Amino acid sequence: MMRADLHSHTTMSDGTMSPGAVVELAAELGLVAVAVTDHDTTEGYLEAHEVGEKLGVEVIPAVEMSTVLDGQAIDILAYFVDSNQPTFRQLLDRQRNTRKERNRLVLEKLNQMGIDITMQEVESKQEGTSDQKNVGRVHIGQILVERGLVSDLNEAFDKYLGVDGVAFVRLNNTTPNEAILAIKEAGGVAVIAHPGLYHRDDLIPVIAEIGLTGLEVHHPDHTEEDKVRYEALAEELNLIPTAGSDYHGVRNGQMHHAILGTCTTPYSTVERLRAAANK
Ligand SMILES: [Zn+2]
Repeated sequence: MMRADLHSHTTMSDGTMSPGAVVELAAELGLVAVAVTDHDTTEGYLEAHEVGEKLGVEVIPAVEMSTVLDGQAIDILAYFVDSNQPTFRQLLDRQRNTRKERNRLVLEKLNQMGIDITMQEVESKQEGTSDQKNVGRVHIGQILVERGLVSDLNEAFDKYLGVDGVAFVRLNNTTPNEAILAIKEAGGVAVIAHPGLYHRDDLIPVIAEIGLTGLEVHHPDHTEEDKVRYEALAEELNLIPTAGSDYHGVRNGQMHHAILGTCTTPYSTVERLRAAANK
């Protein structure tokens, strides 16, 4: 069957493989379509698309946007977006600036604890050809691991960078509403990423009201129970069930979420999302 993986990250955000290399991997795995969903940037699309054209893999223009609702961080996946649409573009620019400022405040907190990390060092952890650095907590976490302050990225998030960590900072206040309206203006469709990670199923119908198109039912961090529950919820709320591996490559010798191609959906899902975007 023709399969698609609708969630992956590259060196344009916190993945470790270039956009082209992710598409090469997709081709090797026999996927017919892949979405590069970097955090708050569509910068990887052109390279991914070029490689996809050569290898016969459809690359879906996409992005993963950080939003907050009722104190809960919620990631919204956007598909078939026109990244040149001004409102959408402005929102992504704002998101990246907020992340930059957040990084600065996190480093300030760490510095106060005697952990001296510079922004330059953080930016050096992002490989790739982009002149616009788009680093985040994962890159800071990598340094904490390398310095031996924590044993792995999970511990870096538990102790320092995560919502209960001592250097946690939240600046982002973009609501799902704002993100979804911008995505629609850019001709795209919105999908809630990995709902199982939030433990806030009560928020899903609220966001669905705004004009959501899909729900990421299948994700490597979802339990079997999660999948059954979200499949039913998608049906009930008239949302397209989607799937993605949330591939990030290997960092500090560890793979987070899963390898590309291990959480996929039939190609018909891509056609349904496209049809919804064209409406
Ligand atoms: Zn992701």
